[in-house]
Amino acid sequence: AQESLPRAWAAVFARTPQAPAVREWGEDTWTTYADLDRATRRVAARLARAGLRRGDRIIVSAGSSRRLVEAYVGALRLGLVVVPLNTAYTQREVDYVIDDVTPSGAIVDDETRAAWMARTGVVCGPDVDLPDGPEVEVDAVGRDDLALVAYTSGTTGAPKGAMLSHGNLLASSEAIRLAWRWTEADRLLLALPLFHIHGLGVALHGTLLAGASAVLLPKFDAATVVEAAAGDEMTMFFGVPTMYARLVDAPGVDALARLRLCVSGSAPLPADLHQRLADRAGQQILERYGMTETIMTVSNPYDGERRPGTVGHPLPGVELRIGLTEGDEEVLVRGPSVFRGYWQRPEATAESFTEDGWFHTGDLGEVSADGYVRIKGRSKELIISGGYNVYPAEVEAVLREHPAVGDVAVAGIPSAEWGETVGAWVILRPDAVGSAARPDELAEELTTHARGRLASYKTPRSINFVDDLPRNAMGKVTRAALVRPV
Ligand code: ATP
Ligand code: MG
Repeated sequence: AQESLPRAWAAVFARTPQAPAVREWGEDTWTTYADLDRATRRVAARLARAGLRRGDRIIVSAGSSRRLVEAYVGALRLGLVVVPLNTAYTQREVDYVIDDVTPSGAIVDDETRAAWMARTGVVCGPDVDLPDGPEVEVDAVGRDDLALVAYTSGTTGAPKGAMLSHGNLLASSEAIRLAWRWTEADRLLLALPLFHIHGLGVALHGTLLAGASAVLLPKFDAATVVEAAAGDEMTMFFGVPTMYARLVDAPGVDALARLRLCVSGSAPLPADLHQRLADRAGQQILERYGMTETIMTVSNPYDGERRPGTVGHPLPGVELRIGLTEGDEEVLVRGPSVFRGYWQRPEATAESFTEDGWFHTGDLGEVSADGYVRIKGRSKELIISGGYNVYPAEVEAVLREHPAVGDVAVAGIPSAEWGETVGAWVILRPDAVGSAARPDELAEELTTHARGRLASYKTPRSINFVDDLPRNAMGKVTRAALVRPV
């Protein structure tokens, strides 16, 4: 067996040198596997000549491009520890990561970000515009060497650097490849950012491990995805729920039916959206679950029933359990893709693992009799009202069924009497905004709607109409940042 992703990739380079690997949307030129081999050796040689050594951390923060893929793969082949960083981060957020991970360099595609990174050391663009160096040894890393320090999205607090080894990445990619029947014939439309584990660990690594090809779309837009799907070229698309929410109303969305696989992950896919995509796009979306710390661990079956509202079954090699004690609903996982701990946070690492090596995901869930895992929400976001548990996702799903609701987030509001009560922050659909109904009448109507479908302790006590929901750089709603009504 290959011990690391770079070694597994090297086998692909040797096996199918002329096969296409990556291309940018709107361009004709492919980087073949032979090109990728050559370019990444050159990257490794340049970075080594600039003084970077195995184990050094290097930030990579750029929009998707063929050059970025080469730079990233080249850095991994040299044995550098890549720190992917969201391109939407502000200087303050970048400074936090630099101080935390003490990198020796950065690969960025923007002058402002280059200036922020100056203090790290070697700073270059995705084309690694550094002097050439003598050829260096590549792919010498082993299973236990670190490949990535990947920061979590920061949805529930400050982002934490998850240490992922080459063995972790290989295990996850191999499991995904088998589960989704990924082959050389596949072509992925890759619109996910390459600075998050979803775009890297699931999409890019999987493509290269399968010897398949990917067309990079640097910025998601529904019309382009529809156009790409309508051609004969693509076989797969991976997205996050907000992408699917935009796709479902896009003209010509039935083109998605031409793809053999559409996957959703990173956040819950509302069951009604799943149904509308099935109806309008003719595509049964496959929902999966994972996180920065575990890469991808749970997936709906490729062949069997893709059950809406669930994330399917643990992948082969992954163990999953609910809770350590009776009544505890936390999802715990164990397996070869589970990370090595948080970078320089021994206490946080110790707290997140049991003695037997189970990782506390912080998510709550349940498993059906036939083994389908349902994620009920994050434990930090659970509302406890008068002693009863209220899952924001359940209340959100009910409110979303109302025709006036465009989007919604539910969170707890501190209450002296109940501990917390349920609050809802609602973005109205444009036509509902224009309607004659007054806000207090609409709020009343939504409350009535909820009351008819939910137990009274789950029914929102306060409904707030907002223009926007607070989201982090990954587009996830940060419930703690919702403005509490006075
Ligand atoms: P932080 O850990 O910094 O608060 P984060 O948890 O959002 O941020 P990620 O690692 O990017 O950072 O996201 C993983 C989380 O996303 C999971 O723990 C889970 O809460 C959520 N998630 C991912 N996929 C799904 C899914 N299919 N259904 C429900 N939730 C999901
Ligand atoms: Mg998390």
